[in-house]
Amino acid sequence: MLLDHLNQKLQAIAAKDLTRVLREAESATAPVQRVRGADGQSRELLMFCSNDYLGLAAHPALAEALAEGARLYGAGSGSSHLISGHSSAHAALERALAAAVAPAIPNAEALFFCTGFMANLAVLTALGDADAVIFSEELNHASLIDGARLAKAPVQRYAHCDVPQLDALLGACTARIKLIVTDAVFSMDGDVAPLDKLLALAERHDAWLVVDDAHGFGVLGPQGRGTLAHFGLRSERLIMVGTLGKAAGVAGAFVAAHPTVIQYLIQAARAYIFTTAAPPAVAHALLQSLALMAGDEGAQRRANLVRLQAQLRAGVGDLLARHPQLGWRLVASDTPIQPLIIGENAAALRVAAVLDRAGLRVPAIRPPTVAPGTARLRITLCGTHTSADIDRLLAALAEAAEELA
Ligand SMILES: *Cc1c(COP(=O)(O)O)cnc(C)c1O
Repeated sequence: MLLDHLNQKLQAIAAKDLTRVLREAESATAPVQRVRGADGQSRELLMFCSNDYLGLAAHPALAEALAEGARLYGAGSGSSHLISGHSSAHAALERALAAAVAPAIPNAEALFFCTGFMANLAVLTALGDADAVIFSEELNHASLIDGARLAKAPVQRYAHCDVPQLDALLGACTARIKLIVTDAVFSMDGDVAPLDKLLALAERHDAWLVVDDAHGFGVLGPQGRGTLAHFGLRSERLIMVGTLGKAAGVAGAFVAAHPTVIQYLIQAARAYIFTTAAPPAVAHALLQSLALMAGDEGAQRRANLVRLQAQLRAGVGDLLARHPQLGWRLVASDTPIQPLIIGENAAALRVAAVLDRAGLRVPAIRPPTVAPGTARLRITLCGTHTSADIDRLLAALAEAAEELA
């Protein structure tokens, strides 16, 4: 029966050290957060795991904008966008997002979604019809993988950042529509896709480039406009997905693209059509978030992130030089995602446990999220972390290294 079947599967997950546990946060998302542990005790932890890269999630101006949005529009949207759920807050947000992306995508329009997961499902299922072929990077986010699986288009996978392989696959493809699909910043590795080279391939092979900028929007490029802006790209062939629950600090996502692409998504994307629009208050708060990201505060926090990244990389580099026998490896990354690869699941869990004892939260990321044998601490930095926070993390990592050595 079902429960026996599920219990067997749960045991198999536990036997591989892969059980995941929920923890309750009792205070706002911030570098220091009160978290309830498995023992029911609350503790203040120094967090290195959220995707709130600019520290906006708890920004008072955003909480105020959310409250103001609720006063203006109420709590809920009441229906899908195409029925009656599309408010002037949503429309204003879409205009602001389109303006932010317009330097990279001429005449771009933007469409707001409840989540990035849904935006990716929408783009891949709507554009990936039977006339198309999807070329999918092997380290793409689960939502892109699932979107490609749901799409009618056949899928060809290419190896991580392997431009020559993708070139060959595109060259051999005779489909009318070719969609290259990639994360801009890889979520578990922190490295950046070679978008300039991928766009050159798209142009050469008459393909389109779908870029999921979940971890670049707000963080990279002038005014945090994202990875397309970081590379200075400009093309009609670009389709950008940005998420708004990470650096933007609120919730939701958007697709920015040529007006015809956006018009088709409105007509055909089931993940857009058949779901209740996000609360207008969320869109209202996001307008404020875009202003913060593009303003001085955003710029200062991005500058601080760059300093913190350098401090962390130098410190971990020293640590690894002192303990080469551990076989740990810091992934080469210029983003706030700084993964420390430990290797086996159990070892990664032990390191995370040492950090937890020291009052730090850096969860161990294990398969299937990452490849077997590459369990890691996915260290993420926030623009409101301090240099002293990084020192504490380095000290705790040194303790873990002593313990495991
Ligand atoms: C988080 C994430 C998503 C999903 O976005 P949500 O708004 O959280 O649903 C999509 N793609 C990537 C690369 C992500 O990291």
